[in-house]
Amino acid sequence: MSDASLQPTESNATTQEQQPPLLKLVNVTRRFGGLVAVDNLSLSLRPGEILGVIGPNGAGKSTMVNLVSGFATPNTGAILYQGLEISRLPANRRNHLGIARTFQLTQPFKGLDVRENVMIGAFFGRHKMTRQQALRKADAVLEQVNLTHKAHFKGDQLTVADRKRLEMARALATDPQLLLLDEVMAGLTPIEIEQAVELIREINRSGITVLVIEHVVRAIMSLSDRVLVLHHGRKIAEDTPAEVLSDPRVIEAYLGERYARQRKSKHINDENIDVGL
Ligand code: ADP
Ligand code: MG
Repeated sequence: MSDASLQPTESNATTQEQQPPLLKLVNVTRRFGGLVAVDNLSLSLRPGEILGVIGPNGAGKSTMVNLVSGFATPNTGAILYQGLEISRLPANRRNHLGIARTFQLTQPFKGLDVRENVMIGAFFGRHKMTRQQALRKADAVLEQVNLTHKAHFKGDQLTVADRKRLEMARALATDPQLLLLDEVMAGLTPIEIEQAVELIREINRSGITVLVIEHVVRAIMSLSDRVLVLHHGRKIAEDTPAEVLSDPRVIEAYLGERYARQRKSKHINDENIDVGL
């Protein structure tokens, strides 16, 4: 993909570094029986940044999103949002504070149409809304994600790409400050991926901090200010996209032998790598 939308944008990392973190994880661990899904994870997100998260299936990425959004609680460690400890707050309280997430497996209310699905997001969001206000919010968000023409489709009449957009619309309707995107590009065509990247950029430009989990390496590398790599629940790297792509531990754990071979032969550059997982 050589489209301009996938080129890195100028980083605003310098100004971000001076600000206190929006989200902080301190030594967070989550176990399921004997399995450690998230293992002693510490992490900071600065306001306004895009943090990309990659890692093989089962690395703990979705569990991390569950822990931040209130769909799981840590066994040990603390999660702070704007300095407030939120580790044990229910999901709706975290939503009111400005945290919104999408689900890896999209789950629209099937009996409701697209617009009604998004209105539900608006009702559960940061601001108390009347029906009229929720309607207006839903329409504005549908416009933003380019779903206006399908506002009256039922949830189960949508394509994969539309369902992913609907997931984002429902989250955006809550008026978040922090948006957690769990594989919103999975199953999309290259053109749909470009459009999703551009949409996420626009969302970020509107002032929303974004954590984006994705397997599409080109997309994550072009979007992210920093990239976090998880493996067996542990952080194995956290750096700029360029540094992460050349980190031998990351190549071994995630990008795999195929990538290492390609790099060695130097027939391709980093941006042209795609790893199907
Ligand atoms: P990823 O999103 O990186 O693919 P997950 O966070 O979904 O990984 O899963 C991490 C590990 O935790 C996996 O081994 C998964 O099977 C396990 N896991 C996740 N959620 C649960 C759960 N609710 N109960 C039991 N095991 C779980
Ligand atoms: Mg997952």
